[in-house]
Amino acid sequence: MANDFDLGGRVAIVTGGNGGIGLGMAKALARAGCAVSIWGRNEDKNRAALADLRECGAQVEARTCDVTDRAAIEDAFAGTLEAFGRVDGCFANAGVGSFGQRAFVDRTEAEWRAMFATNLDGVFHVFQTALRHMIRRAEGGDRFGRIVATSSLASLFGMPRGEHYAATKAALNELVRTLAVEHARYGVTANAILPGWIETDMTAALTANEKFVAAAMPRIPMRRFGQPADFGGIAVYLMSALSSYHTGDCLVIDGGYSKF
Ligand code: NDP
Repeated sequence: MANDFDLGGRVAIVTGGNGGIGLGMAKALARAGCAVSIWGRNEDKNRAALADLRECGAQVEARTCDVTDRAAIEDAFAGTLEAFGRVDGCFANAGVGSFGQRAFVDRTEAEWRAMFATNLDGVFHVFQTALRHMIRRAEGGDRFGRIVATSSLASLFGMPRGEHYAATKAALNELVRTLAVEHARYGVTANAILPGWIETDMTAALTANEKFVAAAMPRIPMRRFGQPADFGGIAVYLMSALSSYHTGDCLVIDGGYSKF
């Protein structure tokens, strides 16, 4: 009997796929048979992640690129297309965080702009490049595409001393809602994933801080921080044909934190 979650023949790009949540999604996609291209700036991290991904059984590759650089994105996309022949899914997951460091009134313009350059402009470059490809393909009769942004719970509740981060993520929620409406006719869905507190390099300083853990843990009904592997199921579901009618949504994965 056919497995509805078999992603054989599909190709996905995961930006920020060389670690953390992105690698968690990339591994599950590859295990489901999806060819995966991970993108990140750091070549050593790309190489290490690729070694891990090769164990998952599908075709995989890594591309070194910075999502703030439009020309680099277009080159990387062309390279992935050449390697795999098509791109069906684009997970814009690369992002930078900044927690509790500075009040808004002390925010420097450079910090503000750097946050937007990666977390929002980077997604603009990646999605626009991918969508142009998906639209061309749909016009040729192949109507299938998946656009997924990694947003954050901060997009719903804000983040004191991280207002620039929260603002970029809130913008992503509205971006995917709009892209969902604009691209439905091409068979393309667009959704955002909103993680709660997940143990990755981004949050390492916080999750190693006893005071933070003592304050956060009672608020998480699952009584643990999330792990990158917790994002595998949603990535496979969103890439699969089973999610074809699910679009424009913000999918919260937070161990129940936001419900309490
Ligand atoms: P990590 O720091 O582990 O991963 C971030 C990834 O993004 C890395 O692969 C990094 O690779 C890549 N990256 C960063 N900047 C760029 C850039 N300019 N160009 C290309 N790649 C880039 O963090 P997480 O896994 O936690 O974060 C993944 C996403 O999840 C982010 O968007 C983050 O905002 C979001 N998120 C995380 C939460 C958490 O609790 N961890 C909570 C809510 C949302 P490299 O360094 O090689 O470029």
